[in-house]
Amino acid sequence: MRRILFLAFALSFLTCQSQEIKTDYPQLTDNNLTTYYIGKPGTNKMTFQVSYNSPVLSYKIYSSGDNPAHDPANWVLKGSNDGKKWTVVDERKDQKFCSRFQEILCVAQKPAAYKQYMLEARTADKKENLVIADVLLSDRNMLAGWEDFNYPNIDFEVKSPGTEGAKVYNQLVQNPDEYIKYHARKVAEILYYTDRDSINDVRNIRYTLEDQPGVSAKGGSTPNINIFYSTQHIEKSAKESLFKLDFETRGVLYHELTHGYQYEPKGIGNYGNNKTFWACIEGIADAVRAEAGLFDMSTRKPGGNWMDGYRTTGFFIQWLTTKDPDAIRKFHLTVEKMDVWSFDGAIKLVFGPEASIDGMWNEYQEFLKKQ
Ligand SMILES: [Zn+2]
Repeated sequence: MRRILFLAFALSFLTCQSQEIKTDYPQLTDNNLTTYYIGKPGTNKMTFQVSYNSPVLSYKIYSSGDNPAHDPANWVLKGSNDGKKWTVVDERKDQKFCSRFQEILCVAQKPAAYKQYMLEARTADKKENLVIADVLLSDRNMLAGWEDFNYPNIDFEVKSPGTEGAKVYNQLVQNPDEYIKYHARKVAEILYYTDRDSINDVRNIRYTLEDQPGVSAKGGSTPNINIFYSTQHIEKSAKESLFKLDFETRGVLYHELTHGYQYEPKGIGNYGNNKTFWACIEGIADAVRAEAGLFDMSTRKPGGNWMDGYRTTGFFIQWLTTKDPDAIRKFHLTVEKMDVWSFDGAIKLVFGPEASIDGMWNEYQEFLKKQ
């Protein structure tokens, strides 16, 4: 039945192909979530004019900052070698984006070598215009190694529903549980290699929006953690734009979730009584946020010390990925491996006995001065 339907569909496409204006949609592929493809109601056909050499194994579709009713809900990715005969590579129905500016990652169901790809997509309500922020086709499986990630349970509560911050959060995030789960996996992906690693088992996350000063904080300890996010901070961040609020909300979430998934250094006291412990914990959390692309990297400036924690330490640890793409994972794993943790010991464990924290920091400072 499906084959017949598809054939009819392909024929209708072929007959109207002469009117089809094939363009590469710059807004769809510019890696900028604030520029959108704005389509029409009903099925939209977007042909990607890039010539592909290897099969698309996975792809991401990003929702815009627009009304969720304009999000794609049903889509088909098709491939072709001659621009005439199109074959289904992947098909999705009744999709819902958990927030604005959010990806849905799809692993292609029927990958094969095609030169050209086309996305056919429509909204849930056929009367609504289609709006998509970005589409990313990849020749690798972007979910590889993370198919069986053990997602935590989320207990989400808005403690200040009457606030402007709670209202705008609701505008940004349509499904808070899914939104937090998605970020939990993304954090684990930065700290670990695959879902088969011995990942710190965060089982339950209580996430609350509260009318309190400050930004966000994590409490409790793995497996049960709680994270508070300030509606006052949400209001402040939203003043610039919904995208700015999204950038900030995800950034803060990456940081706090890292506290759930990261190992704690051993043999040197605790967060409250040892500065190295504190600098390590907060440095790794901001390194993960930086690696996720959720800091304005132009704020990196020479100066300070690796013991300063937060961004100063985090930007440094993230910069180590320019020497080794797995540097954050390796640096984080030193925390588990070393009986008495130190920055110098960690650098030696990752980069060899010749390396030192002083040498590495000086090199980083030289890099920053040239920025
Ligand atoms: Zn922190």
